[in-house]
Amino acid sequence: MAALSLNRRTMLASFAAVAAVAGCDRKGAAPVNGGKPKFGTFGFDTAGMDRAVAPGDDFFQYANGTWARTTEIPADRSSYNAFTSLTEQALTRNRAIVEEAAAAKSAKGDTKKVGDYFAAFMDEAGIEARGVAPIRPDLDRIAAIADRSALSREVGATIRADVDLLNATNYYTSRPFGLWISQDLDNPKINTPYLVQGGLGLPDRSFYLDGGRMADIRTQYRAHIAKVLSLAGIADAEARAGRILDHETRIARVHATQVETNDVERGANHWSRADFVSRAPGFDWDALFAAAGLETQQLFIVWQPAAVTGMAALAASQPLDVWKDYLQFRALDRASPFLAKAFADENFAFYGAQLNGTPQQQERWKRAINHTNNALGEAVGKIYVERHFTPDTKAKADTMVKNIVAAFGQRIDRLEWMSAETKDRARRKLGTLKVDMGYPSTWRDYSALEIRRDDALGNVQRAELFEYRRNLAKLGRPVEHTEWYMLPQVVNALNIPLENRLIFPAAILEPPFFDPNADPAINYGAIGGVIGHEITHSFDSTGALFDETGRLADWWTPADLAKFEAAGTKLADQYSSYKPFPDVSLNGRLTLGENIADVAGLATSYDAWRLSLGGKEAPVLEGFSGDQRFYLGWAQVWRAKFREQALRNYVLTGVHSPGQYRAATVRNQDPWYAAFDVKPGQKLYLAPDDRVKVW
Ligand SMILES: [Zn+2]
Repeated sequence: MAALSLNRRTMLASFAAVAAVAGCDRKGAAPVNGGKPKFGTFGFDTAGMDRAVAPGDDFFQYANGTWARTTEIPADRSSYNAFTSLTEQALTRNRAIVEEAAAAKSAKGDTKKVGDYFAAFMDEAGIEARGVAPIRPDLDRIAAIADRSALSREVGATIRADVDLLNATNYYTSRPFGLWISQDLDNPKINTPYLVQGGLGLPDRSFYLDGGRMADIRTQYRAHIAKVLSLAGIADAEARAGRILDHETRIARVHATQVETNDVERGANHWSRADFVSRAPGFDWDALFAAAGLETQQLFIVWQPAAVTGMAALAASQPLDVWKDYLQFRALDRASPFLAKAFADENFAFYGAQLNGTPQQQERWKRAINHTNNALGEAVGKIYVERHFTPDTKAKADTMVKNIVAAFGQRIDRLEWMSAETKDRARRKLGTLKVDMGYPSTWRDYSALEIRRDDALGNVQRAELFEYRRNLAKLGRPVEHTEWYMLPQVVNALNIPLENRLIFPAAILEPPFFDPNADPAINYGAIGGVIGHEITHSFDSTGALFDETGRLADWWTPADLAKFEAAGTKLADQYSSYKPFPDVSLNGRLTLGENIADVAGLATSYDAWRLSLGGKEAPVLEGFSGDQRFYLGWAQVWRAKFREQALRNYVLTGVHSPGQYRAATVRNQDPWYAAFDVKPGQKLYLAPDDRVKVW
């Protein structure tokens, strides 16, 4: 359900369970110049600042206050920021690519598939005429479930590779279980399936179990369930909706929390096939795994064991009719964006408008682009980089990475609190770090994927199955380290902890993150901070658990680990003190890995920028010193606005701090104090001992 489900290890999170809020209109965007944002003479939007605010009181407002005051969140978005404004640019570019493919009469191969996929989704008249027929086979199959084995087969047959625990970190699936296939935590030489909890329509267990605002959301959700069932012509919709909500609430009770799911050591549970039978009775596990194409797989990693045990117990204890109603609704809800207008509109009315406060559904072409990217993203991406990414940009970004990696190495050497032994291991890990810039070295082969120009829902279902089988095929094959878990046309960046590898897609190497013509201080503060952030993920509270081969291994001396964890606790407390609303604080534990990456990544990029100056001072530009521009560059990439509902959801489930708090990372950096003459008594001031220095 999460169209852009990028979480833990990425620069930007979107919202789990927001089906249709990606993309937006340009109104309210940053100043435009021939369709491109304009970032002033040295690569920074000085007009967007609010110089009436003291930088030491609120650095986000100082750097972005006028932008925040004058920018309206586009009606079809729940939030707006530097990432989404670039995503807008990528959408327009992608539109040209897929519309050309759809119009080309002689298109062949991947180009034809891209065009047909897009055309099928755009064919509203055809979709309307087919009504509920495309989902009918799924509803009928579920209705025919006659016993627990058949229920187990249904659950197994609908598992997809739709979650990602450690790379793009999408923990959410609306199916009873999700599967992630990656190299084994304990054995980097083999691939293993990771079984992940799922089955909820709302983003997280707290939406079912908490009071206050959540009770209102549940009332709206129950009405949504009833509406979808009636649209499909299912009788007794109200009563069934109540039973379905009750069933999901029982599932929510056995689910792990976000903080628990975010904890690698809690997740590292190897189960054999026999373990499923003894530890999670209720499902016919042989039937379930056979239907999932996993009949010969003997070893699994079960990320949330209590959820698997609990779900299996519900398979035994709950009436089959309740399961069948629930599974039919889940199938309908997942299919709704690809069905007739009434279904698609209801899907947006709940997940977009009610849950996240987004006033208006995206235009259809934008939804079509996002779905085409989900299904055939590398086929689109290949054309995207041919058109929009130059060898010069790649070379310059590669050089920055090299400089920032070198600066990180020097920081390791200088660390006073770390023993020589741990430093040696950290250096070894840094030495084996691999970096992919712009696009993958090999492109995905879509030849086994069938796309039909008259079957929008069938296309998405076949694409999901294709993706699942592509992942299943990794089992029993040697582990490879070339796959891209993020598309080149996505505005984001990625650390892959099990592979000690970084990915920087072409679409983020654009202003305000990176501009080959901008002042280097801005580039180092912006994309340099992002690069430093991703490098640091290999050494954050999660990354530090993996050695240079990607094995979950303790390479720390106990004394060093204790100091590292103490610094983490201090940083978690700092972020937990931020309150976006009087009744809501950030969760400094949930966001710790990302905050460590910001603090150390920015410090590292600062060092690299200083090294690049070769001992000279940077010139003053428009009255700003080099140091000032470096930190302004950082603050500019974190400009962000949220709708209230969206921000409240985000704080509960997102592993990133909201933009304004990421901008405040500067208060942990010593040179920032001198650059802006920040004094004790100012709101962001931290005494030198309270500034957290993790690396
Ligand atoms: Zn990150």
